[in-house]
Amino acid sequence: MTEQKKKCCQRDKQLTPITDPIDYKYLMSTLQDYSERYPFIEITYVGTSVLGRGIPMVTLGSGNSKRKSVLYVGCHHGMEWITTGILLRFIEEYCNACEAGRCVCNVSIPRLYQRRCIHIIPQLNVDGADLQINGAGDSIMRERLVSMNGGEDFSRWQANARGVDLNHNYDAGFYEYKALESTLGIEGGCASKYSGVSPESEPEVASLTSFLRYSDDVGMVLTLHSQGEEIYCGDKSVYVPRRRSLAMLISRLTGYRLASPEGTAAYGGLSDWVTRELRRPSFTVECGKGENPLPISDLDDIYGRMRETLFSCPILI
Ligand SMILES: [Zn+2]
Repeated sequence: MTEQKKKCCQRDKQLTPITDPIDYKYLMSTLQDYSERYPFIEITYVGTSVLGRGIPMVTLGSGNSKRKSVLYVGCHHGMEWITTGILLRFIEEYCNACEAGRCVCNVSIPRLYQRRCIHIIPQLNVDGADLQINGAGDSIMRERLVSMNGGEDFSRWQANARGVDLNHNYDAGFYEYKALESTLGIEGGCASKYSGVSPESEPEVASLTSFLRYSDDVGMVLTLHSQGEEIYCGDKSVYVPRRRSLAMLISRLTGYRLASPEGTAAYGGLSDWVTRELRRPSFTVECGKGENPLPISDLDDIYGRMRETLFSCPILI
């Protein structure tokens, strides 16, 4: 490896340590901090959660041409807030490099900023992550939440605040999954795996699909989950240009293996919907290994596995 390349691959030592699980308060104060430190980033809201929380979206870059932007989405599931940490780390490293005029993983960040847009939703399921970390507290939906959860311990909570599993709420195999759902004994809102009354019934999912339908610039979607060290490529029955080569590349960069989701995981997810409805490449990456929620102490290692992919995808599409 050349000296130049070595320098590019070195991790930014100035990144702010993330030491706590990432609930809504932590997420918003971190983004507030970024917006003050880096005036060139754009922070908007892609929508609003069931409990009325704004779902933030960060946009890095000013290049905005057809199918040349990427979208990264974290934390569909309450126990998977470590994926929010990965994306926050990425935003900070990108911004530091952009300011300093540096390259990262052989990608010149000032040039990337000029030529491409990266949209990042660090935490789609803001209510679910907050519930998993802090419990129902004095929420206006407290009684219903405790009843759906079957108790006060929310440590296994994955759904949104209506008890809907967001990654089963997309219009991609929704009704096939419904048939399976009843065999699992799932009749309504609960901690995990309930798909909702109809596709896109949940505001978090409806906001995201609406953004994607009207964003012709987005050429690829990467959605981060935990855990398993695997990559899924969406609905394989449809043809999506460049999917195979991109999947192989992401697998090589992360060291995660390409796999096909099995059982209940095979229906109604974001990557299935993006490939089926929009015919654009979309990958689900199961980051890290262990039992959810992965400890925040795993964050640096997992980010180390993911960062080259996050920096490279925008120039690969
Ligand atoms: Zn997940």
